[in-house]
Amino acid sequence: MPIFESDELKPLGGIYYVIIPLGFVLMLLCLPVILPIAAISSKRDAQRLRHAADETNCAGCGVALGQKAVELADKLCSEQVAALRLKYPFSMLRLARDVCAICTNCGERYAMDDGRLIIRAEA
Ligand SMILES: [Zn+2]
Repeated sequence: MPIFESDELKPLGGIYYVIIPLGFVLMLLCLPVILPIAAISSKRDAQRLRHAADETNCAGCGVALGQKAVELADKLCSEQVAALRLKYPFSMLRLARDVCAICTNCGERYAMDDGRLIIRAEA
């Protein structure tokens, strides 16, 4: 009597024993290319955000946002992630950040859209 009778419990076919290790090796070989691209892209995004914050005045109160607004959003994001890690200690978190700057004067929140800061719509 075969061990695997249903389709769901069939063992992997022989081709997967070649494809999966080959894919893993290919991914490892691509890392020296992918990691620098990701680092450069991340740095460029941060520069664009800082530039947009320097160029933008708050729509609510008119005060220039500046680097303090970005730092305030970074602090808020760090606090939220820390709270989620405490609440779900054994979970892998995959988060999308939607607040990129917060006005230090009135607390208006901004998101990044196409290289400029826009008021974040409340959910
Ligand atoms: Zn403001």
